[in-house]
Amino acid sequence: MDLTAIPALGDNYIWLLADGGRALAVDPGAAAPVQQALHARGLSLVGILVTHHHADHTGGVAQLRAVTGAAVYGPAREAIPPPYRPLAGGEAFNALGLTWRVLAVPGHTAGHVAYYAQPPEQAPLLFCGDTLFCAGCGRLFEGTPAQMLASLDALAALPDATRVCCAHEYTLGNLRFAAAVEPGNTAIARHLAWCQAQRDGDLPTLPSTLALERQINPFLRTRETAVIAAARAHGAGSTDAAAVLAALREWKNNFS
Ligand code: ZN
Ligand code: FE
Repeated sequence: MDLTAIPALGDNYIWLLADGGRALAVDPGAAAPVQQALHARGLSLVGILVTHHHADHTGGVAQLRAVTGAAVYGPAREAIPPPYRPLAGGEAFNALGLTWRVLAVPGHTAGHVAYYAQPPEQAPLLFCGDTLFCAGCGRLFEGTPAQMLASLDALAALPDATRVCCAHEYTLGNLRFAAAVEPGNTAIARHLAWCQAQRDGDLPTLPSTLALERQINPFLRTRETAVIAAARAHGAGSTDAAAVLAALREWKNNFS
């Protein structure tokens, strides 16, 4: 199976997963870049996975479905262009010959879902939309810090080798923030250098892996002593992981 990040809308990625002549697209915020990729590679689109309702993840759904007839899967608790198979989390379905596990990951939006599958003889795949980013997490538009913490904990419980396919190229900014949270974390500095070289070459910094995220992502490290101390110095009212996450999120919102 062949995984590609199609850049779209400035800093979005639309993930395309191909197997032979068939493909799935994830969070198509625009149709044209997906249609171009399908055409260039002679692929037919059989499925569209949507993680949440924001326009930069759904803008291309109606056109792609009309042109290709692809089946659409999306969050049951959110409005995306109908018709689609509604998923609340906890269920599984088959697409492109894979069993996709659906995880409810509220926080960025109230009904946000993520998709996980294990392709044969490849590392697992996680499509996590705007919940988990490389070295960061989504803004809390419709959820609480406690909800986002539970969602990130659910993702962090997946295997180390899981390929983390985020929907935005936010990595460099996230890593600069992560370095401010943990100045002594050498894995962050090392990954920042690698990602800078990728971006200098106009290449994606993604997918990441869960093993790496556990080392560098402050939002997955809310129980680490150094992260707790930094969050306490930036307004966290207690050492509780949700309070730490809330303070980190607030700090990041105002960080540049
Ligand atoms: Zn979003
Ligand atoms: Fe987004």
